Amino acid sequence: MTPIALPESPYLLLTPGPLTTTASVKRRMMTDACTWDDDYNNVVQQVRARLVELATSAPGYTSVLMQGSGTASVESVIGSVIPEDGKLAVVANGVYGRRIAQIAQYLRIPHHLIDAGETASADLVALQRLLAEDPAITHVAVVHCETTTGMLNPIEQVGRIARAAGKVFIVDAMSSFGGIEMDIDALQIDFLISSANKCIQGVPGFGFVIARRERMAEIGGRARSLSLDLHDQWACMEDNNGKWRFTSPTHVVRAFAQALNELDEEGGIAARAARYRDNHRTLVEGMRRLGFRTLLDDARMSPIITSFYSPESPDYSFKRFYALLKARGFVIYPGKVSDADCFRIGNIGDIQPADMARLIEAIGESCYWSETVTETPAQVSA
Ligand SMILES: *Cc1c(COP(=O)(O)O)cnc(C)c1O
Repeated sequence: MTPIALPESPYLLLTPGPLTTTASVKRRMMTDACTWDDDYNNVVQQVRARLVELATSAPGYTSVLMQGSGTASVESVIGSVIPEDGKLAVVANGVYGRRIAQIAQYLRIPHHLIDAGETASADLVALQRLLAEDPAITHVAVVHCETTTGMLNPIEQVGRIARAAGKVFIVDAMSSFGGIEMDIDALQIDFLISSANKCIQGVPGFGFVIARRERMAEIGGRARSLSLDLHDQWACMEDNNGKWRFTSPTHVVRAFAQALNELDEEGGIAARAARYRDNHRTLVEGMRRLGFRTLLDDARMSPIITSFYSPESPDYSFKRFYALLKARGFVIYPGKVSDADCFRIGNIGDIQPADMARLIEAIGESCYWSETVTETPAQVSA
């Protein structure tokens, strides 16, 4: 018999972070650790080593943890790896891709944004053309799972194009690392960015960068920000057995170490990815049974977060729908696509397929607008 789900929080977070985490992860925060102490720094070192192990079995990689939300880690990479005479190409199809270009703009880094809009695939032809036309470009950046829509971008192909042209390859794998199997070495990624509160299922407070050691070693002195100096943070951790330069989020790091242990207990990334795929399948099949349509076709969807078109009824409001679902124990996410009315449902975190089945039931009960339209989600399900 499967154990009855007894969530600690009043609702399950079906958002792309923070996520619903296990009680055992949360319990690790009940200790106040010293940011300088050997016991704590040993935890940091083991976390760093584990992250590299999760990314690849190939030699030559290292990792560094950075305070702040995930965007701070993206900013630390963009601001620290591109030299003064460098230029960045950003392949974007959503908010997070555009955010990389926005960071470059803030930091006055020359860059070129290849923007395919939000529902189209990454424009690889345009990237190839740009790299052929503009030899000044030194770095290429792309988002793996574009959380705006849930679209999975072809990082293998982007990496092949970037590396064939001799460019440094940067991937924002924020919402996919730990939840989708990938090998940083096979994908030829130089810098991969993710954060504590996504697929590793920790709590928010820091991000991390996994990088080719050789690339990390050559970027000293390039940073445009003291707090976000990636090389300096890495060198400090390397030279002082895991010591952070400035106050580290000790509770969050301890919770993250527990989350890494729980990822291992689950059977590693392959097992976690299988669970996320089950969650996603239960969600999409259930929603389609209720009459909802997905924004993306199946081939481009990630098993992380899914965008659904809002019901066309004039009586529908996201706010009311959200409130009804929250009262039933689920929190969903508004849409972020500018030219389509959508809402999003995430399925990562300590969430099981049975939770998604309960969600579908709750959504079926929350289609309050269905009486007033002819072809209603409720009637479709009945
Ligand atoms: C969550 C996320 C980020 C970072 O978001 P923060 O709110 O700064 O933690 C960046 N890129 C992607 C693709 C994400 O999903």
